[in-house]
Amino acid sequence: MFENLSDRLSGVFDRLTKQGALSDDDVKTALREVRVALLEADVSLPVARDFVKAVQEKATGQAVTKSVTPGQQVVKIVHDTLIDVLRGEGEPGALKIDNPPAPILMVGLQGSGKTTTTAKLAKRLKDRDGKRVLMASLDVNRPAAMEQLAILGKQIGVDTLPIVKGEDPVQIAKRAKTQAAMGGYDVYMLDTAGRLHIDADLIAQAAAVRDVANPRETLLVVDGLTGQDAVNVATEFDDKIGVTGVVLTRMDGDGRGGAALSMRAVTGKPIKFVGLGEKMDAIETFEPERIAGRILGMGDIVALVEKAQETIEAEQAEKMMRRMAKGQFNMNDLKMQLEQMLKMGGMEGVMGMMPGMGKMAKQVQDAGFDDKVLKQQIALIQSMTRKERANPQLLQASRKKRIAKGSGMEVSDLNKLMKMHRQMSDMMKKMGKMGKGGMLKQAMK
Ligand code: GDP
Repeated sequence: MFENLSDRLSGVFDRLTKQGALSDDDVKTALREVRVALLEADVSLPVARDFVKAVQEKATGQAVTKSVTPGQQVVKIVHDTLIDVLRGEGEPGALKIDNPPAPILMVGLQGSGKTTTTAKLAKRLKDRDGKRVLMASLDVNRPAAMEQLAILGKQIGVDTLPIVKGEDPVQIAKRAKTQAAMGGYDVYMLDTAGRLHIDADLIAQAAAVRDVANPRETLLVVDGLTGQDAVNVATEFDDKIGVTGVVLTRMDGDGRGGAALSMRAVTGKPIKFVGLGEKMDAIETFEPERIAGRILGMGDIVALVEKAQETIEAEQAEKMMRRMAKGQFNMNDLKMQLEQMLKMGGMEGVMGMMPGMGKMAKQVQDAGFDDKVLKQQIALIQSMTRKERANPQLLQASRKKRIAKGSGMEVSDLNKLMKMHRQMSDMMKKMGKMGKGGMLKQAMK
C-alpha cells in the first residue's frame, strides 16, 4: 500500500539526505517537491498545501539535532506531521458497542467492499472480542447482495437475519433490532444498500434506517483506490447521514495512498480500519504510525533521528572509555559523566554500569551526592579553561581561586571535585592495565 507516494517522497528525501547543511531555499524546494508528490498521490490540493505549511512551520527555527542531516530532520518532521493529520481522536479500531444490542450502520457505495467489510468486522468482533453478532442486509433492490451476506455469515459462523421478501429497509432494520434484543446479541450490523453514485434515494433510505436504528457507530466503507473520489463520497455521506468512522478498503492494492491523508484532513473523521484483501480476516486497525512510515518508506531515518541523541551520547561514552582504557581521564570526561548522571537520575545509573564503579558510586551517594551537587560540580568544570580541563595538573592555587569564584563556590568544593577526579582516574588506569581482555574493553562491547 502507498507505494507510489512512498517512492515519490523517497526520491525527494534522497536528495535531501545527501546534503550536509540545508539553506531555507533548499527546504523550500524540497517542500515544493513534497507538495507535488502529495498531489500526484491524489491528496487534494488544499490538504497538500496545508500539510506543507504545517511542515514548514515546524521546521522553521527548529534546531537541527547533531549527527543527523537537516534533510533527515525534515523527514522526521514530515513523518510526525503525517501522523498528526492521520490520527483521529479516540483509539483506532475501537467501536462503541456497549449497551447491547449495539447497532452498527454500514454505509457506502456499491462495490466499495461494504458487504465484505460488514462480515470481516462481524468476524473480528466475534473472534477477538467474543461478541455475539447479528448481521442484516437491507439491500432490497439486489437480492444477490442479501444472499451474499447470508453466505458470508455461514462461512464465518455469524448469524444473519432471515430474508423476508417484500420488506423495505426500515422494516428490516426494525426486525433486526427486535431479533437482536430477543436473541441476546451484543451487536447487530445493518448492511445498507449501495448505489454506484450517491443519489437522493440512497441518502433518504440510509437516513430513514439511521432514524429507526439509532446506531452507535455509522461506518463509511470507501474504496481506497478511488483516491479523490473517496474523499468526496466521504464528505457527502458525512454531511447527509453523519458518520462516526471510515473503513478504507483495498489498501492491499497499489493505490495512491493520498486518499487516507485527504480523508482525514477533509472529513476530520477517524479512519478506523483498513481492508487488506478479500479474505475474511484481511482487516486491520488503522495505525497512523505504520501508515506514515509506509507513506514515507523511510522508517530508518525517522528512527535514526529519534535515536540520534542517544547515539551521540553512546559515541561519546565509547570514545571516553577508549581514552580511559589508555589511562587518560580528564575533566571533560568527568563532566560528561556528571551530566550523564544527572540525566539518568543519579550516580548508580551510570557508574553502576561500569565494573568496579558501583561501590564507589554508593560511597559518593552516601556522602550526599545529589542533583544539586552534580550541577555544582559541572559548573566548576565549566569555569575551567580548555587547557585546565584537558590537563587537571595545571590546577594550582591561583587558578583554583579563579575557578571557585567563577562558579560561585569555595576552593574546598573544587578540591573535593579534584579528589574525585583523581580517584576515578586511578581506577581507570588500573582497569586499563588489565589489557586487551580487560574489564573496560569487555564493558565496551
Ligand atoms: P459492496 O458492493 O460494497 O458490498 O462490495 P463487496 O463487499 O461485494 O466487495 C466487492 C469486491 O471487492 C469483492 O470481490 C470483494 O472481495 C472485494 N474486496 C472487498 N474488500 C477488499 C479489500 O480490502 N481488498 C481487496 N483486494 N478486495 C476487497
